Amino acid sequence: MKYLFGPVYSRRLGYSLGIDLLPPKICSLNCVYCEVGPTTDLTCERQEFVPTADILREIDQVLAQGVGSRPIDVFTLTAMGEPTLHSGLGEIIAYLKARTDKPVALLTNGTLFADPEVRAAVAGADIVIPSLDAARQESFERVNQPAKELDLEKIIAGLALFTREFKGEVWLEILLVRDMNDSLEDLQALQEAVRRIDPTRVQLNTVARPPMDERARPVSPEKMRQAAAMMAEGYNGQVDILVDFQAMAQKEAARVQKQSALLSREIAALLQRRPCPLMEIDKALFINDSQLTLACLQSLMADGRVEKTVHNGKEFYQFVRPALEQK
Ligand code: SF4
Repeated sequence: MKYLFGPVYSRRLGYSLGIDLLPPKICSLNCVYCEVGPTTDLTCERQEFVPTADILREIDQVLAQGVGSRPIDVFTLTAMGEPTLHSGLGEIIAYLKARTDKPVALLTNGTLFADPEVRAAVAGADIVIPSLDAARQESFERVNQPAKELDLEKIIAGLALFTREFKGEVWLEILLVRDMNDSLEDLQALQEAVRRIDPTRVQLNTVARPPMDERARPVSPEKMRQAAAMMAEGYNGQVDILVDFQAMAQKEAARVQKQSALLSREIAALLQRRPCPLMEIDKALFINDSQLTLACLQSLMADGRVEKTVHNGKEFYQFVRPALEQK
């Protein structure tokens, strides 16, 4: 299958059969946290980027044959870009609704809802999950790096209009990036936008997977709780925090452990050639974190593979060669 994938399990939707409407990477945004990579076609122009008929054919195939023994709870329209840019979206949603009683969900960056054609195309879905990461222009530009024709006020007004017209559920997702869209002013502006849009629920997220731009860092659990409390003020819907901070911390610890093991091997190889002071190790291996180098050296010393010596008043680290066997 070229366009359908899964089903994959998600905490939000259950077993979701994905329908990928666009090839990478056509989008109206170029978010710093994007997992797909940089946007190559930054556009707001809707087109039939891949043939609708081919997608419908794959849907027929899945409906006729299923996907092995795996269950499908929901069909999810998505893309490695922005799915509302596909001009066949309305036809695909109508096709699914006519042939299955499973709910149809749409993941979208929410930027095109000011366009009545987009609102009409999406009207037949059951759950729409739009994003809105910033309600202040400077933060919007910093985090989402939008196409030049996008206007933040129109985006928010479009989402508010869509939510009023739509018969299904709207789950507004807000992704917070440390020092980019998480200031008090940002949260106050988002709080105001949430009240205006009035979605069924608000879902808060942060950077949990490798982002396109390494400056995109997750916010702290405290910041997330503060944001959740603020979004809940003056809003009657449910506010969820989607991030599992404990799992994120475990993943980060595993990543650091792997990086340290690799670096320890490189340091040992360098010291096998010649004894070096700390600064020289950093310079030779392009390390910009001496604490990390020291931690690796300490672990090598604890294993007895490296020792510290002083020569002419200067500290050196040197490789410990095994003693030659006695004849
Ligand atoms: S809207 Fe989605 S696909 Fe587009 S750049 Fe942002 S994260 Fe990536």
